[in-house]
Amino acid sequence: MQVTLKSFTIPEVYTKPMVNPKDADCSASAADLGGAQSSSGATVKDAGARGSCDVLIVGGGPAGSSCAWALAGSGLDVCLLDKAEFPRDKVCAGWITPAVAIELELDLAAYQVGRTLQPFTGFRTGLIGGAQVLTRYDQVVSYGIRRCEFDEYLLRRCGARLFLHESCTSLRREGTGWIVNERFLAKCVVGAGGHFCPVARLLGCDEQPTGPVVLAQETEFEMSADELAACQIQPDVPELFFCSDLQGYAWCVRKGNFLNIGIGREGESHLASHMSVFCDHLRRSGKIDVTTAYRVKGHAYRLYRGQHRQVAADAVLLIGDSAGLAYPQSGEGIRPAIESGLMAAATIRAAGGDYRQENLADYSRRLKLRFGKSSSDRNAPPGAWRQVLGRRLLTNRWFTRHVVIDRWFLHRQQRPLVRSTS
Ligand SMILES: Cc1cc2nc3c(=O)[nH]c(=O)nc-3n(C[C@H](O)[C@H](O)[C@H](O)COP(=O)(O)OP(=O)(O)OC[C@H]3O[C@@H](n4cnc5c(N)ncnc54)[C@H](O)[C@@H]3O)c2cc1C
Repeated sequence: MQVTLKSFTIPEVYTKPMVNPKDADCSASAADLGGAQSSSGATVKDAGARGSCDVLIVGGGPAGSSCAWALAGSGLDVCLLDKAEFPRDKVCAGWITPAVAIELELDLAAYQVGRTLQPFTGFRTGLIGGAQVLTRYDQVVSYGIRRCEFDEYLLRRCGARLFLHESCTSLRREGTGWIVNERFLAKCVVGAGGHFCPVARLLGCDEQPTGPVVLAQETEFEMSADELAACQIQPDVPELFFCSDLQGYAWCVRKGNFLNIGIGREGESHLASHMSVFCDHLRRSGKIDVTTAYRVKGHAYRLYRGQHRQVAADAVLLIGDSAGLAYPQSGEGIRPAIESGLMAAATIRAAGGDYRQENLADYSRRLKLRFGKSSSDRNAPPGAWRQVLGRRLLTNRWFTRHVVIDRWFLHRQQRPLVRSTS
């Protein structure tokens, strides 16, 4: 599909943060991040004036920071812009699979110094209020992280020049490149701004066909000593609770002393009441006894289910949520964000400074191979299993282990990507 690129100024609704970064309780994680650069810091070049760079990445979540990290050492001058100050919070259950650590060459022993890293070796699953199935593994199959820590860690080590607390408010074409915010001249722009990415808007993604909306609510807080003593959620066994109409699922995940509780449902307008029913269920079943007045945050996004958005055009690429890549079965999006960031970086390196659409088309092909419709079909999207397999299968141990957990949530069938540095 050919899409005409438009120059535009972004309306305020796209630039307002969905979660006030000041509300993020991340103070403990801000320490020990050597080499930090910020828009107000002395190490940032060109601040205030128009600077030129090879690649400008809009968004410093896992997608943007992974792309920048994979471009380090390429000789390209990479700038990264994010409207938030870091650490910033993000509505998320906060689990990652081991593939993420492999792909990003994370030193987990170093990461967990002063940060939360909770290994998971099993899952408890079932319907809200129904019997649960325990699926155990003899190895670590996933990790619980806190997004305010994880995203900042990735960002600070990515090697790009960082411009934080700066929203991308305008983009316009100049020659073969782009002028961003009337102060950066970039040869290539990478959109990594999440579900409301301004660069995706530039590609007309808000006008392309889309799937159903998912609404989600989540809270994460540190438990008091009494709450910790009463908590029956095992730290190494997160619990997933499917809604009885199978329109979504809820979770209760313990990461050390932190508890993360949330729910996501398709096309739901009464999400708050589902969240409160779920929390009541957790209390009544004796799993938690929480007295903290926790703050619930909300998020809304669209499911794409294998429909591919326009992800590449002249001197523009989209990665992560801005390309609509989160897995439709689970909503897990950190791994696709990272993988698309790595693939975009490989394409940019191979383009050799000529970022015309034909030189970036390889990125769309790689994405289709990795996340294309055929692989989602093989994994059976929620609509299919809702109708054909039904609720009974959630009590079946084989189905729970091999399909729900291994395929839909852990994606164990998909080997990790290897970073290309050529
Ligand atoms: C309730 C919920 C639970 C989830 N749980 C999980 C989970 O457990 N595991 C998992 O893998 N995935 C989970 N996900 C999905 C995951 O959070 C996303 O897929 C992932 O964050 C995508 O990364 P990203 O870098 O593409 O976008 P983001 O992490 O959203 O980062 C985008 C960045 O762009 C910045 N930005 C936005 N607009 C602008 C602008 N105009 N100018 C400058 N900067 C801008 C933002 O400040 C932000 O830092 C969950 C999602 C939800 C909603």
